[in-house]
Amino acid sequence: MSGTRRTPIARPPVAQITARAVDLFVAMGKLRCTCPPPPPEYWKRKMCAGCDRWYELHAELNDELGCKPWEWPCVARQSPKRAGSPAWNEDIAARMAMLDDAARARRTASHRSKSGPPMPPSLTRR
Ligand SMILES: [Zn+2]
Repeated sequence: MSGTRRTPIARPPVAQITARAVDLFVAMGKLRCTCPPPPPEYWKRKMCAGCDRWYELHAELNDELGCKPWEWPCVARQSPKRAGSPAWNEDIAARMAMLDDAARARRTASHRSKSGPPMPPSLTRR
């Protein structure tokens, strides 16, 4: 039995899903798009605050997941099918599914450990 196999991995099977990556992914999912319909002059088109923020968080998530610069976008704003380059769409879908799973697992975990209201009502009203 030889324990040293020096065959390099051609392609890392999964990205590293960190807690921070899940944070970013969840935050991105909560952003609302309020873009107005695009004007005919596409160069005048401006992104809404939600989209702006999405791309900011996306850049961080890209770093966090250790995605290569050409793996862009690393997750999709809408559906992975329309993410961008068809070559990456499968990877993007897999990545989003993993992040989704991680987020859901964390939600159920925090739900179970929750004992009491998150914030006393007196703090939300004044
Ligand atoms: Zn928008």
